[in-house]
Amino acid sequence: MHKTIIIGTGPAGLTAAIYLARANMEPLVIEGWQPGGQLTTTTEVENFPGFPEGILGSELMSNMRKQAQRFGATFKTGSVKSVDLSKRPYTLEVEGLGELQAESIIISTGASAKYMGVPGEQDNIGRGVSTCATCDGFFFRGKKIIVVGGGDSAMEEAGFLTRFASEVRLVHRRDELRASKIMQDRAQANEKISWSLNRTPLEIVAGDKGLQGLRVRNNETGEEELLAADGVFVAIGHTPNTGFLGGQIDTDEQGYILVKPGTSETNIPGVYACGDVQDHTYRQAITAAGSGCMAALDCERFLEAEAHKNASITV
Ligand code: NAP
Repeated sequence: MHKTIIIGTGPAGLTAAIYLARANMEPLVIEGWQPGGQLTTTTEVENFPGFPEGILGSELMSNMRKQAQRFGATFKTGSVKSVDLSKRPYTLEVEGLGELQAESIIISTGASAKYMGVPGEQDNIGRGVSTCATCDGFFFRGKKIIVVGGGDSAMEEAGFLTRFASEVRLVHRRDELRASKIMQDRAQANEKISWSLNRTPLEIVAGDKGLQGLRVRNNETGEEELLAADGVFVAIGHTPNTGFLGGQIDTDEQGYILVKPGTSETNIPGVYACGDVQDHTYRQAITAAGSGCMAALDCERFLEAEAHKNASITV
């Protein structure tokens, strides 16, 4: 039986692992088939404090992992299929590892950016296709960018990208935006943003010299056209990775785990959530790391209180 199992190895899970390991709590960290989380899909990270020259996302995650190992965290590879949170110790069914039990759990499984699923999209991730303007916008200084989506994220990303790009074109599949009025107004007032509404994305087109643009269908006329761009930012939402919880933890309507304000506590005692799986607002490596630290401290206090309770009962 483990004192704590941490599920997920993005900045949130690894920071929780560093803190718990350093407090001698010997956490077991379950890393999935894409260890390191979303940061490993970006190239350089330039906004994580402490790295004035920037650092590769994969290197940052590898460093955090080593730091956790140095203090005694154990890592095992597997995919958590289900959990039983009806009684303690909690049980996890892990593909590749079998059944594991833990007194407490930290959930840091992140959120996955949604993709359009069109040809050319997956092949060009990191080569002009991105799902994170904050991470990659800087690389498109003076370039032409397309942002796909009609929600708040698309409006926000488009606005942010106008700081770098020569032109930002918002492409949305309907003629009506989903974004809130204030975000729409802000984007519409921005002279650097042009609009291609009622266009269904069909294909990301790339050649030897890099990305050429996005092929779309005009839903009114049925005609297809290639919208030229050096970069395509897909901003059509995220999906929190909470499916394995089977509805045992309270979430909001989009599936993000609800934590008690100012803590990492879920509705289940001894189960904590940190990082993007409980945050659809900030979604930054540094905020994820900060919430991972909170989860470790909350978890440590819980285990100490439980140990104290059990000792009192024995006496
Ligand atoms: P969202 O509201 O679900 O919007 C996703 C957009 O992408 C929709 O316009 C949708 O089109 C489009 N879309 C979905 N699948 C597509 C596909 N396969 N191809 C092309 N387009 C596709 O997601 P979001 O914008 O990420 O926002 C998520 C939540 O976070 C919202 O509650 C939002 O308010 C919040 N948020 C808030 C802020 C802020 O307040 N600063 C910033 C970002 C996000 P349809 O409209 O046709 O369905």
